Amino acid sequence: MNELVVNDLSKEFPARGEPLVVLRGVSLRLGAGENAAIVGPSGSGKSTLLSIIGGLEPPTRGRVELAGDDPWQMDQRRLAQFRNTRVGFVFQDHYLLPQCSVMENVLLPTLASGGPSADTVARATMLLERVGLAARREHRPAELSGGERQRAALARALINQPLLVLADEPTGNLDRTSAQNVAELLLELQRLENTILVVVTHSRRLADMMQRRWELNDGRLEELAA
Ligand code: ADP
Ligand code: MG
Repeated sequence: MNELVVNDLSKEFPARGEPLVVLRGVSLRLGAGENAAIVGPSGSGKSTLLSIIGGLEPPTRGRVELAGDDPWQMDQRRLAQFRNTRVGFVFQDHYLLPQCSVMENVLLPTLASGGPSADTVARATMLLERVGLAARREHRPAELSGGERQRAALARALINQPLLVLADEPTGNLDRTSAQNVAELLLELQRLENTILVVVTHSRRLADMMQRRWELNDGRLEELAA
């Protein structure tokens, strides 16, 4: 089953004196096609939680399972593959490579598994059409607006058909109109591809668009009433 299960996750960062405890027994479960927002004050551990789920930062204790696989039980090679193929990341900054075209940027995640094929180029073309950038495929990121760059980042996140999309403040740098547009595309693509979507956001508007909402506070995750 394409399910995300997070079970009793804790995270401590070493510090002089007492370790910094960021997550204290966080659990959640989401099925394919489900989307959720995680809100909470700055410094409450939202980015840390996404990093652990996405295979970027190890937990101190607890389990993550995506479609039955725990990234933190994998060796380095399989973990890298997990990050590259099972998870699509969208950050507040687009992290597009300035020297590459939009099309090349979207195809970048395919390089780890042999580079672009006719299929992946067709998929990139479809995704760029979906996000309204078909006519901008040969442009460099610097020639795009902030909203367009973030839309290219969405297409890149989805190129390898991930089971899970993790978005950390995806609209945080955008004006209201572009933010709304990116939020709608994020949900549209999530439905189209039947992925699991977890969005960390300060935006009440974006959080309210999701099916479920959790709040992270003092290291604990609590589901908010629908
Ligand atoms: P949020 O995304 O909710 O703003 P973060 O997950 O970025 O919060 O950070 C939560 C806490 O963990 C903060 O106090 C931050 O300083 C600390 N932190 C995050 N990453 C590290 C790290 N690599 N080393 C030490 N402390 C960290
Ligand atoms: Mg953060």
